[in-house]
Amino acid sequence: LHARRENLQVVPYSAAMAEQATGRLAMVRQLRQAHEHREFELHFQPIFDLARGRVVALEALLRWRQSDGSFVPPAQFIPLCEESGLIVPIGTWVLEESARLHSRLAAAGHGDVAIAVNVSAVQFEAGMSADAIRRLFERHKLPAHALHLELTESVLLRHPEDARSLMGALREAGLCLSIDDFGTGFSSMAYLRELPLDHLKIDRGFVRDVTRDSRSAAICRAMIALGHGLGLSIIAEGVEEAGQLEWLRAHGCDQAQGYHLGRPMAIDALLASMTLQAGKAD
Ligand code: C2E
Ligand code: MG
Ligand code: MG
Ligand code: MG
Repeated sequence: LHARRENLQVVPYSAAMAEQATGRLAMVRQLRQAHEHREFELHFQPIFDLARGRVVALEALLRWRQSDGSFVPPAQFIPLCEESGLIVPIGTWVLEESARLHSRLAAAGHGDVAIAVNVSAVQFEAGMSADAIRRLFERHKLPAHALHLELTESVLLRHPEDARSLMGALREAGLCLSIDDFGTGFSSMAYLRELPLDHLKIDRGFVRDVTRDSRSAAICRAMIALGHGLGLSIIAEGVEEAGQLEWLRAHGCDQAQGYHLGRPMAIDALLASMTLQAGKAD
């Protein structure tokens, strides 16, 4: 937050800016109230293991419910949560909810399915500690690897050394760690060599044209080889077509998620669909 403020340039004041600033303030106030009044919920998108053809994880995705029943998408409010610091208490709530859901999954016979939680850079720096994670695991009696954290490359930019030691401690506390949107940020080979990681998530942008564009295909092939060479498993995001899924399976990608496989769903709908799938498999 500090660095950002120092970088602000002096620009002429305008009515439009004032309006924008009041709009943002009002929205931050609304977000704080939404958190206090529990107007956030989590939807969950299945992540499939491609060799075994079954759900191995669920990605928790934040939703802000409006009084008319519609949802504001996270892209429209998470940046403001980050700037205002609200992402720290909201993120703590997301972790707590995800742990609670894991207990429900275990009770329904799906205890081997992990919950993947997105953590933004601000939250990672200001709101994460190995002790808090250890207590979370104890409180909910979670088995190791029940929760995955999805971090973006931006987490590593500001204080790489601190990030690395925190990641090591979090992993010892029982978490699996993924790099989200891999290839869209500051992808340095040095961090891949140094960091304790479990998964790489190939960004949707590379998956989109994988069957049509030889450059996208080359990048996906290289990411899969790189990740496997480092002992990581590869998750493709944004799979929307059967052809993309076939390509990924044929090229050794480990896991995938996307609208073709399953949309993000409210928890009750999701549990029902998992029971149906389990019933089909028997
Ligand atoms: P992400 O972590 O990369 O999440 C994947 C996004 O892609 C989700 O959007 C998901 O709904 C969408 N998606 C999944 N499959 C497909 C597909 O086949 N096609 C397309 N076009 N999109 C697909 P969503 O839910 O709008 O979330 C957007 C971003 O907001 C997430 O990107 C993540 O960075 C952030 N976010 C969501 N929930 C949280 C949270 O609890 N905490 C934090 N810090 N960030 C969150
Ligand atoms: Mg994610
Ligand atoms: Mg992603
Ligand atoms: Mg993404």
